[in-house]
Amino acid sequence: MKPYKIDTLCVQAGYTPQTGESRIPPIVQSTTFFYGDTQTMADLFDLKREGFFYSRLANPTVDVLEKRVAALEGGVCAIGCASGMSALLLTAMTLCEAGDNIVTASEIYGGTFNLFSVTLAKFGIQARFFDADAPMEEIEKKIDDKTKFVFAETISNPSIVILDFDKLSTICKRHNVLLVVDNTLATPVLCRPLTLGADIVIHSTSKYFDGHAAALGGMIVDGGTFRYKNNARYPAFNAPDESYHGLVYADLPVAFGTKCRAQMMRDTGAIMSPQNAFLTYLGSDTLALRMERHCRNAEKVAAWLLSHPKIEWVRYATLPTDAHHALAQKYLPNGTGGMMSFGIRGDAKTCARFMESLQLATQETHVADARSCVLHPASSTHRQLTGSQLREAGIAPNLVRLSVGIENADDIIADLAQALDRI
Ligand SMILES: *Cc1c(COP(=O)(O)O)cnc(C)c1O
Repeated sequence: MKPYKIDTLCVQAGYTPQTGESRIPPIVQSTTFFYGDTQTMADLFDLKREGFFYSRLANPTVDVLEKRVAALEGGVCAIGCASGMSALLLTAMTLCEAGDNIVTASEIYGGTFNLFSVTLAKFGIQARFFDADAPMEEIEKKIDDKTKFVFAETISNPSIVILDFDKLSTICKRHNVLLVVDNTLATPVLCRPLTLGADIVIHSTSKYFDGHAAALGGMIVDGGTFRYKNNARYPAFNAPDESYHGLVYADLPVAFGTKCRAQMMRDTGAIMSPQNAFLTYLGSDTLALRMERHCRNAEKVAAWLLSHPKIEWVRYATLPTDAHHALAQKYLPNGTGGMMSFGIRGDAKTCARFMESLQLATQETHVADARSCVLHPASSTHRQLTGSQLREAGIAPNLVRLSVGIENADDIIADLAQALDRI
């Protein structure tokens, strides 16, 4: 597609019908695909020809959404996954094996924290955590020759820390190691990590991409510029894959994306469903419009909360008082989305009373869709963490996460005001 602006790409990228075909992509609800001759099938299996043969690996409806997300992020390919979590798992599996490690920011999504620190540990992959605000040397000390990627979120969920791209990409380039960035809460409308030094971008499309809380999904975007060839850090990309007729991934134009799909998607089947790809495609038509509204609403709500006597602090990086304001201005000049967190003067009980008094915003595990919602992470999503793990993840006991929707900002503020009056 032409180098259209991001809002045009949201509506147009991914699917161009031929004469007489449906204007929007069809839901290809089929596990398998017909071929009339044996050679075509053989070529597909040898990756000599592009096409679909089994929906565990690729599907035409999922393919349309993959192309759209790849265009939005500026990557060479994208891989649709069943969820954001499976996108993270597949990324780790594509890059790591037992004995390897991941160097990751501590301020990350609770599910990602569990995956990295508990589940991957069972497979012999170690997670080494660093504080997002730590100086370069401190982060660098965690990297050794078994480090397969450095990981962080553009806007961290739920602690709302803004990623210092220059710091992490400088470290990664110096050590010739991949930078993987979860861009879920920023979306490519507000930030495009591949233009800022990231090599791979992850999305939970269950959030803003879908935007309607209708479809679970994840995406892995390969930037396609990282050199794996003869890089001693990545032997698995330079040795023949015996499970794929001796293919050497480092020799291919799209090394990571091919290994991820041909090996890991094949072995796990954690692919997005055609129905969810279709719903996410529809939702993403309005992504740019919605993000603009989320940003403007959240800016008003954050400023109002900051001036309220019952609010101890507000984390929203567009606020000039925020510790990450300068980073937000540098990397997210058009806004930081609808997600914020704030501390209520009081304890967990006060937080519960406040949230139960809300009438418009609802309590949900979900965030980042059209409707405003709240959550108390310390008693829900992050309740399995210990006190010190909570502190490391930047989650205070009185932290309330607020996902500002696209309702009228005055109605959202009035709802927060009446609930704060009750505590
Ligand atoms: C929700 C979320 C995930 C996990 O995505 P699912 O689609 O729920 O599996 C990962 N990272 C971030 C930043 C998220 O907000």
